[in-house]
Amino acid sequence: LKLAGGKSPKSMIEIGEATIGGKEIILIGGPCAVESSIQMRKAAASVKRSGGKILRGGVFKPRTSPYSFQGLGLEGVNYLAEAAREEGLLCVTEVIDAKSLDLVVDRVDLLQIGARNMQNFELLKLAGKVNKPVILKRGLSATIEEWLLAAEYIMAAGNPQVILCERGIRTFEPSTRNTLDLSAVGVAKELSHLPVIVDPSHAAGRRDLISSLSKAAVAAGADGLLIEMHPNPEEALSDGPQSLTPEQMMTVAQELEQVAQSV
Ligand code: PEP
Ligand code: MN
Repeated sequence: LKLAGGKSPKSMIEIGEATIGGKEIILIGGPCAVESSIQMRKAAASVKRSGGKILRGGVFKPRTSPYSFQGLGLEGVNYLAEAAREEGLLCVTEVIDAKSLDLVVDRVDLLQIGARNMQNFELLKLAGKVNKPVILKRGLSATIEEWLLAAEYIMAAGNPQVILCERGIRTFEPSTRNTLDLSAVGVAKELSHLPVIVDPSHAAGRRDLISSLSKAAVAAGADGLLIEMHPNPEEALSDGPQSLTPEQMMTVAQELEQVAQSV
């Protein structure tokens, strides 16, 4: 596996006051989808209270069904960015194509490329042309090598600020939405210099496992967590069953603090 940056030194990605890939475990939280201004303000307050640094919220949703909520688009980015700014947080949203990238790139602090677009090579090349960090999720059935080569597309096009995100892969096991591959954290870190974060929410698909998987991710060496949280998960338009309540988010954050101190 030929990687331009090699294995070391480890990349540290600095965005404002947040450093990803440094000593601190970075916490990214927020709803799957941006739904309203008030929802995002509540989410931002919760992320802030939990010690998170980055607010997430999708506005272009790559949903399995065309009849599911597809996202608010540009209107939603404004809710996300304003809510983050009010709390002094950074913000991230997913881009799905050239048009969505153009629309959001100047309004958010980081971009996310989702599992379904991990091998959208033209999108990866475009993400290589922007001066913003990119969270690159592992594809639903991508090997670690394919994931690292996808990251390479972004870096080869000129953007070294890539953060890998393990979010579970498809296996034969139906108890969880996907199977969280925690060994991928160590393997990706061994093969590359990039920071690796873990998204237990899309891996599990259910909120009761988020606490334990988050702690396990930190113990496995993850540089951060990306966790879905909704002010009122019962009413979420997307991924409610896996979204934590603000109270649960707070508890998980405290637990992570303890694990981080012991690893
Ligand atoms: C998301 O983060 O909301 C998302 C769609 O994630 P993934 O691409 O990992 O499925
Ligand atoms: Mn989601």
